[in-house]
Amino acid sequence: MGRDPNCLFCKIVAGEIPCARVYETEHALAFLDIGPLKPGHLLVIPKAHHETLPELPDSVAAETARLLPRLCRAVKKATQAEGLNVMVNVGPVAGQSVAHMHWHIIPRHGGDSIAWPWNSQRYEEGAVTLLQDAIAAELRPED
Ligand code: 5GP
Ligand code: ZN
Repeated sequence: MGRDPNCLFCKIVAGEIPCARVYETEHALAFLDIGPLKPGHLLVIPKAHHETLPELPDSVAAETARLLPRLCRAVKKATQAEGLNVMVNVGPVAGQSVAHMHWHIIPRHGGDSIAWPWNSQRYEEGAVTLLQDAIAAELRPED
């Protein structure tokens, strides 16, 4: 299994740095975020080292992401959350501070202090088609 000796989350996987584990499989680990946005904030990671979501092999993504619904149910029940934010930051510009891909599961309660939604924008005339075509072109042939 791929490991980066300098990676914090690889060290957590190896048990070299302690964490509050809540669930694990052969390929994935879920543990409490040490600096939670809300109590119960969970991180879900593939055990193998991959820096970002776009770099995950499909099989690793599937092995890890298949746990999300179950983990979401558990966090929701245990924290009596009314809802959740499930998110992934990709790259430092998007707020990724640990370069070992991870999903965040964040419990949400009415009136809590997490600022959402972000400011949304509007497409200029014709821009939707341009982006639709540009992204679709990247997906052909399937890679
Ligand atoms: P990112 O900003 O990369 O999307 O999220 C990284 C998350 O990892 C942060 O929410 C941060 O609180 C958490 N984190 C950083 N260091 C540790 C650690 O040593 N243990 C645990 N459990 N979480 C950590
Ligand atoms: Zn790692």
